Amino acid sequence: MELRGLGAEEIVELLKSGEAKREDLMASGICPTCFDREHDFVVFGDNEDKIIYEDEYFEVYLISNPRAHGHINIGTKKHFKDMMELDDETCKRAFLLAKKVMIIIREVYGAKSVYLCTMCDGEMNHFHVQLIPRYAEEKIGSSNFVKPRFDYVEDKEKVMELRRRLDYKE
Ligand SMILES: [Zn+2]
Repeated sequence: MELRGLGAEEIVELLKSGEAKREDLMASGICPTCFDREHDFVVFGDNEDKIIYEDEYFEVYLISNPRAHGHINIGTKKHFKDMMELDDETCKRAFLLAKKVMIIIREVYGAKSVYLCTMCDGEMNHFHVQLIPRYAEEKIGSSNFVKPRFDYVEDKEKVMELRRRLDYKE
């Protein structure tokens, strides 16, 4: 569905009714992540319960279809297509934050290691970094990037511990 030329309110209604989907936004040159943030989580739904850290530059949250318990995304608030588009300062901040979060995930989840990947390919992507834990019983290597996804199961204690260690207040 072509959304170009429609007002934001119209697009919101089409998304709410299910007539328009995330793919339609992308095909119409609209970033779903930015649109979601600007319009009350209409694309991906409210993820407040999954946010573990936020500041003026980044949002860090547990993802709703993880490949491992503790699979976390770090996204910029500002729109960048991919890592190559980041200004140096944001890039530095993103990877220092990633390092900090990785260490915390390893500790809180008892993971053996934490893998990092960032792809963001295609026209309407929004820069983010994925952090995927690798547990003791799992083989070392790139297969950890494509472990089957499953539905997020909330572990309140871990969420609270992640927030506490990142000094994030709801
Ligand atoms: Zn965006």
